[in-house]
Amino acid sequence: MAADSRETTSAAGGAEGQKLPPGMVLGKDGKPCRSCTSGAAFKSWSANLKSSTVGASAAGFGAAAGAAAAASTSPSTTPNDCPPDVEALGRSTWTLLHSIAATYPKEPSSTQKSDLKTFLGAFSRLYPCWVCAEDFQSYMATQQIAVGSRDEFGKWLCEAHNAVNTKLGKSTFDCSKWEERWRTGWKD
Ligand code: FAD
Repeated sequence: MAADSRETTSAAGGAEGQKLPPGMVLGKDGKPCRSCTSGAAFKSWSANLKSSTVGASAAGFGAAAGAAAAASTSPSTTPNDCPPDVEALGRSTWTLLHSIAATYPKEPSSTQKSDLKTFLGAFSRLYPCWVCAEDFQSYMATQQIAVGSRDEFGKWLCEAHNAVNTKLGKSTFDCSKWEERWRTGWKD
């Protein structure tokens, strides 16, 4: 889940006054932000919606909430072709980012360095979970992206990932092993 104080942030036209379950994050439009919220929190919210009077006033949340409410009745049969929650999106994204690091040249050209900076700058502004995106932008503002070589970037990214791990209360990853995890495979 997106564990921070913006969980109950509410904007115009949205969910003002509603009691939101822990981990539920609203988008800047005030509507539930699926890609900012764990599937569990989203289901808990939509189940409450079904069983409370709040349901009527929150009907405007629309089809996504309705679909989630329906899904919450049978979690074990939730189809895997639903929109991603914050965790599924995060796992896929980290896989992409670490894989980019794994294939980044040992001695990149100035164009490749510039492409990587441009990509990550745009990425940090476009990432679908806005809470995650804002924190990642802040991280990038204080920890300048290291694009000098594959190992430099791989370690920078590992530390960036660890910063998110720490924020979420997870254990950190040993960054001396980033290449084993994402490029070569584990040593025997
Ligand atoms: P993930 O953290 O997704 O990691 C996937 C795999 O990467 C792990 O299984 C492990 O093998 C490996 N790994 C773990 N740490 C490292 C590391 N430091 N270096 C290299 N490999 C590693 N979620 C929120 O709830 N709130 C946020 O604010 C938030 N911000 C995010 C910002 C970004 C830029 C991204 C990409 C994701 C963010 N997420 C956020 C999602 C979150 O980081 C996780 O992806 C999600 O919680 C699922 O976690 P997971 O335990 O499955 O493993």
